[in-house]
Amino acid sequence: MIIILLGPPGCGKGTQAERLQESYGLVQLSTGDMLRAAVASGSDVGNKAKAIMEAGELVPDDVIIAMIAERIGAANGGNGFILDGFPRTQAQAEALDRMLEETDLKLDRVIRFEVDEDALIERITGRFSCASCGVGYHDKFKRPREDGVCDACGGREFSRRDDDKAETVAARLKAYHEQTAPILPYYQAQGRLAAVDGMAAIDDVTGQLKSLLGGV
Ligand code: AMP
Repeated sequence: MIIILLGPPGCGKGTQAERLQESYGLVQLSTGDMLRAAVASGSDVGNKAKAIMEAGELVPDDVIIAMIAERIGAANGGNGFILDGFPRTQAQAEALDRMLEETDLKLDRVIRFEVDEDALIERITGRFSCASCGVGYHDKFKRPREDGVCDACGGREFSRRDDDKAETVAARLKAYHEQTAPILPYYQAQGRLAAVDGMAAIDDVTGQLKSLLGGV
C-alpha cells in the first residue's frame, strides 16, 4: 500500500504516519525527518537545507526528489510506504508518479487533513519531543505523565524544532498555500483524493484513516 498524507504543518500527519506504520507494517518516509537528520549530520544536503528550513521555505525540488528516490528504492519490497511531507510541489508530484511507474508501484490514496488554521499555530508552537527516543509531546495537549520525564524511555532531555517558532510557522503556512495546496486538484483528477478531519482527537483521526484504508 502506498499512501500520501497531505496537509499544512501541524495538521497531525507525522503522528498518524507513525501509527499507520505500526498497524499496517508500512515504512514512514518523512522528508522533514530526512532533512533534519541531514542537517544534524552536517552533510552537503543538510548544509544546503538548513537556512531554508529555518526560514520556513521549501527546499529545492531537485534536492528533495533525489533524496526520496533513494529511499523509495530502499523501501520497495515491503508492505509499502506512507509519504509524510512529500510531495509538496507539482514538480515533486509528477516526479513521484514517474518513480512509481518505473518501479511498477501504484499510489493508492492521497489523504488530505482538513484543519482549522488558527488552531495550528497553538499546536505547533507547543510541540516538543524526547531528545533520546524522539517521542512527541505537547505543552497543552500531551504532557509526559511525570513532568520532565519521557513516558517511553525515561529520558530527561527534550527538544523543540527550530522551525516551530510562531514567525517561522507563518512562512511554512504560506509555503503550503502557495506551493502545496495547488497539487490537490492533480490528485482529485486521478480519483485518489480522500479527506479526514484533522481537528478530531488523535484516536478518532486514526479511526477515520483506518476506515478509508480498509478498502485499499
Ligand atoms: P516537515 O517536518 O514536513 O514540516 O518539514 C520541515 C521543513 O523541511 C519544511 O518546512 C521544508 O523547509 C523542508 N521540507 C520537508 N519536506 C519537503 C519537501 N517535500 N519539499 C521541500 N521542502 C521540504
